[in-house]
Amino acid sequence: MVCEKKGKVVCIDTEILGEKGSISAYLILSEVPVIVEAPPSSSAGIVDFLEDSGIGREDVGYVFITHIHLDHSGGAGELIRELPEARLVCHPRAFKHLVNPEKLWESSKVVLGELAESYGKPLPVDENRIVVAEDRHVFSLGNDEMLAIHTPGHAPHHLSFYLIKERMLFPGDSAGVYSFEKVVPTTPPPFRLDDALKSIDKMMELKPEFIAYTHFGISSSDLLKIVKEKMVLWSDLAVDAVKIGGVEELHKLLLAEDDDYRELFNLTKNSRIISGFHMMTLLGLIDYASRRKERRE
Ligand SMILES: [Zn+2]
Repeated sequence: MVCEKKGKVVCIDTEILGEKGSISAYLILSEVPVIVEAPPSSSAGIVDFLEDSGIGREDVGYVFITHIHLDHSGGAGELIRELPEARLVCHPRAFKHLVNPEKLWESSKVVLGELAESYGKPLPVDENRIVVAEDRHVFSLGNDEMLAIHTPGHAPHHLSFYLIKERMLFPGDSAGVYSFEKVVPTTPPPFRLDDALKSIDKMMELKPEFIAYTHFGISSSDLLKIVKEKMVLWSDLAVDAVKIGGVEELHKLLLAEDDDYRELFNLTKNSRIISGFHMMTLLGLIDYASRRKERRE
């Protein structure tokens, strides 16, 4: 279940839907232990892991979630019930969906189809257990600090976290998907390119030494610049694709123009989760390019 450990940070493979290497959560062994991300059906595994590590459930101070897409926070209601002292940290715009997940659940079923049912309906979170993080809020973890920054683009309510002393960034989905040591954008509708690029600049300013991707694992190379370049390239290709068609044309252009896309597309074909991201990425880019075309016409 533990996929790797770097300093105080432990990557936990949640192995959701039996898939290894698709969705992780992180445990940070600071003076005040905390968790980053609450994927669906992950709470039992996380609690077992805490017990095996000699950490009491009541010792956990925070559960930080980057955004409310089910693969990142679908298990928040369950997990917070297991951790009596923990507060759930989210973006101000995510608050109401965590307290009352009905609308989120309905839209997730539309967007994700069967995958949403496999993840399961999220439990509501008691509003007294939630702390909303304004941009650049700093949370004390005893011997370290966690900085929260607003990073819209992938989703308007997206937060990223930076563990200051360890110089480790937790970008959620705002810096792409990291798989087989490659990084590619993840841009579901309604994707906002300008916001996404500004968010990457904001993360680059932090000069992180490590990046802990929810999908998947810890990287020590600077992939922020690469994902930024790809976002621009892929958006331009989407603009070309909408002139002649849509998703299928964009897929063909990406296969021809981007080796990483082609390799990852083939390597992750059998992963329901990761191949789903690629499909959402194409849809988001086409949606973006269509809006841009409408503005110009
Ligand atoms: Zn997401």
